[in-house]
Amino acid sequence: MQIIVFLGAPGAGKGTAAVRIAEKLPAKHISTGAMLREAVKNGTPAGLAAKSYMDAGSLVPDSVLIDMIGELLTASTPDSVFLFDGFPRNESQAAALDELAVKFNAEVGPAVCIDVCEELLLKRLGGRRVCPACGAGFHVLSLPPKVEGVCDVCQAKLITRADDQPETIKHRLEVYEEQTAPLIEWYKKAGKLRMVDGSGDADAVADAIMEVIR
Ligand code: AMP
Repeated sequence: MQIIVFLGAPGAGKGTAAVRIAEKLPAKHISTGAMLREAVKNGTPAGLAAKSYMDAGSLVPDSVLIDMIGELLTASTPDSVFLFDGFPRNESQAAALDELAVKFNAEVGPAVCIDVCEELLLKRLGGRRVCPACGAGFHVLSLPPKVEGVCDVCQAKLITRADDQPETIKHRLEVYEEQTAPLIEWYKKAGKLRMVDGSGDADAVADAIMEVIR
């Protein structure tokens, strides 16, 4: 079992890159944000526990995430290759992942950090739109839907996620700096870190990632 980790601030393009890389490798793309949004939608206990934290742009309690990842690995086969997009997000989650890796005989790494300056992060996050019905993602500048405000896939009306509202964006970036950015050092010390410039378009970023994980 192998677990490739994607690091990077909100808006760095982890999700977009992860979809592409997961297809190229191939690997299974695991977005904890998407799993939590699904849990909220379905009203599961994890979803109920997570909702207020997510709306505020704060981290959901570690136990919710660690249980979720533990269940995922338990249900997986030894030859699985995962691409984790959004987990771990602090040092205690990284330590828990290392423990799970021992238990499941999995290798953690490489950890790919997608690096983007704050100005560009703000531009990207502010323009994000999502489809509440099918989950498709769009961007007013870089990936506009064919008809403004309408999902290309299922024609539902697009929304701005609660956590993409301006005040919440600011808070998410602070949370990233305080809690998640230290993981860059964590994986650097472990010799697993690969830095990638995330300022280019989606194809350029995906190519750069493929280069460093080969
Ligand atoms: P994302 O789609 O990755 O930006 O995640 C959306 C939200 O889900 C985050 O702002 C957090 O509230 C929550 N979340 C996702 N992954 C984690 C994690 N590993 N630890 C804590 N909260 C998380």
